[in-house]
Amino acid sequence: MKEGELSSAYRPRSGHKLHFHYDIDFAKNPKSYLDASITQLFYTNNALHDLFYAYGFTENAGNFQADNFGRGGVAGDPVIAFAQDGSGYNNANFATPPDGKNGKMRMYVWNTVVPNRDGDLENGIVIHEFGHGVSNRLTGGPHNSGCLAWGESGGMGEGWGDVWATIFRHRTADRAHRDYGPWHMGKYANGGSTGIRKYPYSPDVDVNPSTYSFLNHQGYWGVHAKGEVWAAILLEVYWNLIDELGWTSDWKSASVDKGNTLFNQLIVDGLTMQPCRPTFLDARSAILQAEAVLTGGKHACAIWRGFAKRGLGVDAQRIPGKNPWDDDNRIDGFSVPEECRP
Ligand SMILES: [Zn+2]
Repeated sequence: MKEGELSSAYRPRSGHKLHFHYDIDFAKNPKSYLDASITQLFYTNNALHDLFYAYGFTENAGNFQADNFGRGGVAGDPVIAFAQDGSGYNNANFATPPDGKNGKMRMYVWNTVVPNRDGDLENGIVIHEFGHGVSNRLTGGPHNSGCLAWGESGGMGEGWGDVWATIFRHRTADRAHRDYGPWHMGKYANGGSTGIRKYPYSPDVDVNPSTYSFLNHQGYWGVHAKGEVWAAILLEVYWNLIDELGWTSDWKSASVDKGNTLFNQLIVDGLTMQPCRPTFLDARSAILQAEAVLTGGKHACAIWRGFAKRGLGVDAQRIPGKNPWDDDNRIDGFSVPEECRP
């Protein structure tokens, strides 16, 4: 970032008490509560930094920090987060340069509803955007931030964001449970009833029918559509692990003995193990490899059952296109390995 860009940006001033308390009148447009939005966005980003730190997104792994305290990695790269950024509406984005350069989050106001709403206040959107920083820094190493740029890998970049946005908003075991959904993205900000994805997330295939082969369908060329499929698949793994191990509200414990925290650890570890520009099949393998390393294969069948339910079972196939204009063809596989069959 350019020197001075941060120091010249507007920020709320609390005076010497460091007391950042601002009221919001939701009947008014977001501009009227800018101080509250900036404060909230600052808080959420810091909370996410600390949460992911517990799972290994540390200085050495290329996290976003002003000072790395001599613990490795390149310092001087906290996330610069722009609340109510004026460069767009009804969206948000995150730019992830290599370790040592600031991540930049731009959050927009949504004008699809009157009064307008502020994406800064929908944690799911902020989590999704921060997630881009995490997945980009961890895949292919912190100095290579171009590993999730397009195609299936870009789609999974969106999918991990949606997964984190969904699971980190679960505050109690019953809300994390598969029966509680459907879970939406962007539903507050856009003011609608269905959110911004084609389907809400749900284990019910009548509500969300996504399978691996949806990537072949018309309308699935873009990264967000591909990401929906990846997120729908991963969430099946999440629910299966919660069925096996239960759920804890103590996300920062990173416990391998609880389903939700083990799941998140496997996701983060998988990111570091997968190759640059992974396919869905590569990422699946990396998560299974992470489980083998961390918990010795104890939960491999729960994971396989999750993947297989959405077509990414052991018999799933990706047949590469014959030329750059010919998209890959994916064939659903609903089978689990022999040892996981009853
Ligand atoms: Zn995104």
